[in-house]
Amino acid sequence: MQYKIFWCKVNKYYTDIWLNSGFFEWKKGIFIASCVVTDKAKKKWVKFVIDSIKKLEKEEKIYLSWCGSLDKWKVLTTFYEVYKELAPYKDKIEVLPEEPKLVKNIMSYWANAEYPLNTENEKKQSLRDSSLLSEWQKSIYTKKFILIQSGCDSFCTFCLTVQKRWAHFFRLKEDILRDIIDYEKAGWKEIVLTGVNLGAWGLKSTNDLSGSRLSELIKSILQETKIRRIRISSLGPEFVDDKLLKLFENKRIYPHFHYSLQSGSDNILKSMHRHYDGKYIKDMLEKTKKIKREDWVSVSIWADLIIGFPGETEENFLDTYNLVRDYNITKLHAFTFSPHKYGENVPAWSYKNQVDEKIKKDRYDRISKLGENIRNEFIDSQKGRSFEVLIESVKNGKFKGWTENYIEVTNDNFEVISGVVKRNEIVVGKLK
Ligand code: SF4
Repeated sequence: MQYKIFWCKVNKYYTDIWLNSGFFEWKKGIFIASCVVTDKAKKKWVKFVIDSIKKLEKEEKIYLSWCGSLDKWKVLTTFYEVYKELAPYKDKIEVLPEEPKLVKNIMSYWANAEYPLNTENEKKQSLRDSSLLSEWQKSIYTKKFILIQSGCDSFCTFCLTVQKRWAHFFRLKEDILRDIIDYEKAGWKEIVLTGVNLGAWGLKSTNDLSGSRLSELIKSILQETKIRRIRISSLGPEFVDDKLLKLFENKRIYPHFHYSLQSGSDNILKSMHRHYDGKYIKDMLEKTKKIKREDWVSVSIWADLIIGFPGETEENFLDTYNLVRDYNITKLHAFTFSPHKYGENVPAWSYKNQVDEKIKKDRYDRISKLGENIRNEFIDSQKGRSFEVLIESVKNGKFKGWTENYIEVTNDNFEVISGVVKRNEIVVGKLK
């Protein structure tokens, strides 16, 4: 089954699940993990669906899952009213729930299938199913995305995901630990903890600010598993505390922080219904920068930012701009505010004081330029330093991987000093 993933690591987690579920045993076509983070993101996968349908063979279909296909965690029953331009293609699209187990009677689904094994793909598929290949070889990734939490109760005023993913829940520690130990045994070397609001792991609600329990889970992973490389995906600042930051001194946890900051301005953070203010962010970034690692690898900080949120003045924007400059944010995921006029919308869509698109663009360009300069300076400062890299792919002699602090490396910018350049192997070398 071909696949196309739009955006987040949770989408990558579920795509791996769908593709290894057997659901597509006798099916042909393209599996698409959709995203609704902005109008632009929605338009991207809708266009991809329409373009792909024109190239499909008679028996092939589009299998669409994730945020675009969901409403309050269930399949979006008004899918063709929301995405009108897809209505003419109904017979070529299957709108799927979040994960395979939610497909009713999956076994009977199989039982009705009478396709003989003929094409190369199917032979490969059956090879996969005959598990002649080890776990990680079956997977589409060289690292394992592990969902520890999903859903959210925070209802930030710019967010559509919350209407899709619905209520917060977290997976039990013993289930997560069992998964990791299985992956370790199956040859995986790197895991990525992920979730919609993963910092709320272990709490009753994502609005529960009584104290994060994430450090408790990570401590157990360090003590009860031997997995070599542990990454944490995007984190809500309200769940970052000293206990958690202390754990990042450990060389098995990678010193890469992806913070969902969204803004540096108190007014805007309040209007977004975020759980923290500008001072809180600055204290957190200060502490993050002071982390002393066992392996001396420099900390990298990525930030999600929304530019041009309704009501944002030049002064508010400069609060965000100066935050990036003064705290050396080494990579930006900056977006201009999306009013979500396309399909479903968000509370801030109806706010009076929308920012003019030209002003949004100008601010976006300025902060992106700043972000780029800081990124280049950061990478320059890492040249000549030693890193451990998990080789994620090798194609025509060219390898790809990431340093502990999330610098992408290939043969061009990384000199391997020891280790075998082979997929899923860890090598040591210097950044050039
Ligand atoms: S924390 Fe806010 S932005 Fe993140 S998923 Fe929840 S509602 Fe959306």
